[in-house]
Amino acid sequence: MESIDRLREVQRLAGKISLYNSEIDKHDNKLKMAEAAMEELVAEASPIETRLAQGMSIARKLELEVAEVDEKVIKTRKQLDQATQASEFTGLKQQLARFEQEKAAIEENLMLVLEKIEELRSQSKDLAERSDQARSQFEELRADVEKNTVEYRDEVQSLEGPLQLARDGTDAELLEVFDRLFPSIGATVVVSLEDHTCGGCHLNVSSQVVEKVHAGAVVVNCPSCSRILG
Ligand SMILES: [Zn+2]
Repeated sequence: MESIDRLREVQRLAGKISLYNSEIDKHDNKLKMAEAAMEELVAEASPIETRLAQGMSIARKLELEVAEVDEKVIKTRKQLDQATQASEFTGLKQQLARFEQEKAAIEENLMLVLEKIEELRSQSKDLAERSDQARSQFEELRADVEKNTVEYRDEVQSLEGPLQLARDGTDAELLEVFDRLFPSIGATVVVSLEDHTCGGCHLNVSSQVVEKVHAGAVVVNCPSCSRILG
C-alpha cells in the first residue's frame, strides 16, 4: 500500500471517530443545557422563600399590634359605659374613635401583607411544580442521551485499535502534517487533485505541483490551503 493510501485510511478512521465524538458532544451539550435550566428554576426559589418568611414575620407583628389596640378599645368601651360626667364621656368617645381608627389602619396593612403572602405562596408552588417538571424532563433526557450515545461510544472504542494500526503503518512525516491540519480541516486533509485544482479548496495549482503529485515521491501540499495532495 502506498504511503498516501495508508494516510487516507488514517483519515477515514479519524474522521469517523471525530464524527461520532461530535454526536456525543451534541447530546452532552443538550443535557448540560437542560441541567442549567433546571438549576436556574431551583435558584429562583430561594428569594421567594426569603420574602415569604419576611412577610410572615411582619404579619405576626401586625397581628400582635391589632390585639394590643383591640384591648385598648375594649378597655375604653368599659370606661365609657361607666362614665358619669359629660366631659369624661366626650373625651373617652374621642379616644375610642382614635383607637378604632388605629385598629382599622393596622388591619388594612395586615390584609395587604396577607395578600402578598398568598401571592408568594402561589408563586412558590408554581415554581416547585415547574422545577419538578424540569427535573423529570432532565432525567428523561439523560436516559435518552445515555441510550443514544452508547452506540457512538462503542463505535469510537472499536475504531481506536484500527486507527492506531493504520497510524503505525504511516510515514511519520505525513502523519505530522496530518495531525497539524486535522483539528481545523477535519477529514479532508488528504485530497485528490481534480485536474489542475486542489480537491479541498478548489483553487488551481501549478503544473509543477501536478507533476510532483503524479511522481508520488514526496509529500505535496496545496500551496493555497496546505492540504496534502495525493
Ligand atoms: Zn487547496
